This record gives sequence, C-alpha cells and structure tokens, in this order.
Amino acid sequence: MNQLYDFAIIGTGAAGSVLSYFLSQSGASVCLLEAGKNIPAGQYPTNELHANSRLFWQGGMELNHQANLLFLRGKVVGGGTVVNQCLLDRFDQIAIDNFKQHSGISWFNSQELNQHYCQIEQHLRLEVIPKQYWNGNAHLYAKGFESNQLKYAPLRRGQNQCHNHKANDCIVCLGGCNRQSKQSMTVTFLPKALQQNVHLIDQAQVQQIIYGKPQVVVYGTKNNHPLQVRAKRVIVAAGAIGSTELLLKSGFGQSLPALGKGFFCHPQHMVFADMPEPVDAHKGAFQALKSADPRFRQQGFKLENVFGGPIATAMMKSGYGISHHQFMQRYRHLACIEVAIQDENAGQIKLTRKGQLRIHKVLSDLDQQKVNAGIEQIYNIFSSLRPNVIYKPHMPIGLHLMGGCTIGIDPNQAVINENFQLFGYDNIHVVDSSIFPCAPGINPSLSVMALAHKASQVILDLAGYQPVTTHSKQPTWLEEAL
Ligand SMILES: Cc1cc2nc3c(=O)[nH]c(=O)nc-3n(C[C@H](O)[C@H](O)[C@H](O)COP(=O)(O)OP(=O)(O)OC[C@H]3O[C@@H](n4cnc5c(N)ncnc54)[C@H](O)[C@@H]3O)c2cc1C
Repeated sequence: MNQLYDFAIIGTGAAGSVLSYFLSQSGASVCLLEAGKNIPAGQYPTNELHANSRLFWQGGMELNHQANLLFLRGKVVGGGTVVNQCLLDRFDQIAIDNFKQHSGISWFNSQELNQHYCQIEQHLRLEVIPKQYWNGNAHLYAKGFESNQLKYAPLRRGQNQCHNHKANDCIVCLGGCNRQSKQSMTVTFLPKALQQNVHLIDQAQVQQIIYGKPQVVVYGTKNNHPLQVRAKRVIVAAGAIGSTELLLKSGFGQSLPALGKGFFCHPQHMVFADMPEPVDAHKGAFQALKSADPRFRQQGFKLENVFGGPIATAMMKSGYGISHHQFMQRYRHLACIEVAIQDENAGQIKLTRKGQLRIHKVLSDLDQQKVNAGIEQIYNIFSSLRPNVIYKPHMPIGLHLMGGCTIGIDPNQAVINENFQLFGYDNIHVVDSSIFPCAPGINPSLSVMALAHKASQVILDLAGYQPVTTHSKQPTWLEEAL
C-alpha cells in the first residue's frame, strides 16, 4: 500500500475506535487495522460455542503461565466493547488519586478527566434497568444484600432500549448484541468515524512496527497475505496484552525496561448457589445491580450480579463426571454472585525464547485476602437465602486487562510519557488499557474511551492539526436517566 497516512491505529476497541473518530474529525487521514473480523450488524454468532471461538483471542481459552487464571479479550472489529457487559462507570476519586500517584502525571485529576468523560458520554446512551425488569438472579441479589444490611445500587449500562418488556435473554450480549442496543464501538464511534477519512482494514494482524522518521512502517498479514502500511504517526491501541506483545515483538523491550511490567486484570471468582426454586438467571436482563457498600471499596473488592451461559458455567465448576453432570442439570436453579478484586500484585507480559506470548500473573497473599473477604460476604448473602448448596469458586477470570505499557514520567518505570509517546520514539504512541499504571478497581472501558479522547487532542496538537472541540457539558438526558 503506497499511501502515506497521517495516522495508523492498531486495534478497533474502546480506544482505537474513539481515536479514529476524533483524529479524522480534524481532517487527518487514518488507517485503522484490526486482527478480528468486521461482522455486519445483526450477524454475530447466536450460540455460545461459536461466539467464544469466533470473537475471542485463543477461542476464549487464553491462560496465565500456570494455567490457573483465564483471560478473555475480544478479537473482532469493536474489540472488547463487542463482547463486554458495557457497564460504564467513571473513576472515583480513589482511582484517580492512585493513577496520579503511580504515574506522577498531574493531569490525572477529576477536573481534567471530567471534561473527557463528558465528551465521550455525549455519544453514548446510558440506562439503568428498572426493578420491574430485574431477573431472578437480581431479585435474589437484592434480597440477600438487604438481609445482611449491605448496600447495592443500579448499574450504569451502555444500552439503548433493550426491549426488556419482551423478556429478552440479554445474556447473549456477551457474544455481540444483535439488537444493536449495546453501546459498543460498532454502533457508536466507528460508524461515524467511517464516514470521515478513515480506512478500516479488518482481519489484518500487525506483527511488527518499524520506527523511522518521517514515517513509521507497520508490517502484518491480511488473510495470510503480507500487508504493509506507512504513516507519519502510529498509535498502538491493541489492548493490554495485544499492545504489549506487539511492542515486545517489534524489539522495543531492549530500550524500554518497563515494557510488559505492571499487568493487572481485576481477577473475578464466580460463586454459585443451588436454590430450591428455579432462578432462571440466564433469562431477562442479567446484570442489573452492583454492590455499593463503601467498606467493600476500602477492602478492595466488589460483588457483581452476574451469570454465565452454559459453557461458561460448566467451565467455572471444578471436577467432571457425574457430579459435574448433576451440577449442570441444576442450571435453571443456579444463582450467582461474583467477587472482583482490585489486584495489587502486578503481573508481567513476556515473550518466550521462541517469541511466544507468556503471561505471568499470580495472586499475592494480599490479593487472596481480598478474594476471601469477598467470598465470605457472598456466603453470608447466599446463606440468608437458604440455598441447597453453595459451590466454592474454582478458577478466576480476568476480563479487565490493564497495564504492560504504563504511562509515567520515568522511562525506567514507564513505557509512555504524558503525551502518550513511547519514550525515545516520538511518533509512536500507545493509547488503550495497557497504559493504566495500576488497577483502578472500577470498570475500565469508559475511562479507556475518555483517555483516548484526551490523547486525540494531545496527538493532533503534536501533529500540527487543530482538534475539533465541542461543548463538554454532561447531557441532560443522562442526568435525568441516572
Ligand atoms: C467478557 C468481558 C466483559 C467485560 N465487561 C466490561 C464491562 O462491563 N465494563 C467495562 O468497563 N469493561 C468491561 N470489559 C473490559 C473492556 O471491554 C476492556 O477494558 C476494553 O475493551 C479495553 O479497551 P482497549 O481499547 O484497551 O482494548 P480492546 O477493546 O480489547 O481492543 C483491542 C483491539 O485490538 C485488536 N488487536 C490486538 N492485537 C492486534 C494486532 N496485533 N493487530 C491488529 N489488531 C490487534 C484486538 O483484536 C481488539 O479488537 C469486559 C471485557 C470482557 C472480555
């Protein structure tokens, strides 16, 4: 490809799509490269097995080096926003202060970030699920919290009329929302970006970035054919694991000692309870509530009102044979609460000598204490509901993958500077969840989008473009809805 783009962006997830929209708005030319497929509206797989194998890296079976922690990350145009629950929370003061402290960057403050949250929220519909549409699992969650005098609150969800009155099985949103209600990138920023000067190449897996001035060259494959893209600036937005792996494979680890370090994932353990009556947790609006007890936040965990499809549920139960079969026969009777922790023990993303990805991530004693504190609360909640059995959790999952290319002021401790530039390579940027300097303990994707908006302004300025600014007040419908 002979064209020299102003910007090449690698990855179309929460960060890459937002960037493509705001960068191209200023008139710049953008090439957007994505390893996954561009699936047309309404054509996401309709069963769990196909969704796992077609929408996730490694078919949804990516593990840490000890094979005792599962990571899920989207591989599709729209990235994680296509397969996530789209719970969209702003960071609280604790998370913002932690980011500032770990990075040393002064613009991590609520005044600055609020402007960027507002810029993003103008493009999204956020709703809460009214009590009349709570499903069986949500009712049990609320009852158990009330019995134990614990606080809960409605979740802020990125969705636009899920038609809950038609008793939809909203659990399918984890495999792509065919109703186009979920506010993924494919219904929000991406269609608008593609009306501007953006060239999207899907099924294009980038394998190497070669630094140069005045252009950076990106090499990869498209449908197994070689692909080369040239741009004045490259922005790596391939997610925590994807961005780190790509930069390591491109050889930047030699000059950037922090590359790959500081990996976090909010490990989550699902606790199931077998209830005497059917719960039908897989029916209806499946995640309506969140824990809102300030003591939980202080202790570094939260309790989630989630459930899983049959395959996910089967994987979360240890054992096999008759006992496992009997567990699955009770699927309709299962209630579930999950504990997600704010992990403190940083993992590391590495390459083996053969150049294969290896993720070192273990829970420290402190992390395990947080898990235990959360599980104890869940046992209290479930016990008050008189279940037949409560099942101990088996394997944790990491859905919020963060770090590896952390932002900061010290090139020995961080990978990118406050202008989102790789230290020493000023026309290569990283903008996505990989730049997080620590685990926030809060759903990350709204903040990934807000940081992408901030980055678009900084990068346009560095490139000599004028960012297009709009008013940044919180939309009034949002204030009313929440
Ligand atoms: C099941 C699940 C549920 C979740 N629920 C929530 C939730 O409710 N709320 C929330 O805030 N967060 C949630 N998350 C996390 C959230 O989706 C991520 O934090 C967010 O998508 C991260 O954005 P990103 O831009 O950093 O990366 P991603 O959205 O992961 O995008 C990265 C993109 O880069 C592509 N890519 C990677 N490597 C390459 C390469 N070499 N070449 C080309 N392309 C490449 C990937 O295929 C992917 O499309 C969930 C995640 C999962 C998996």
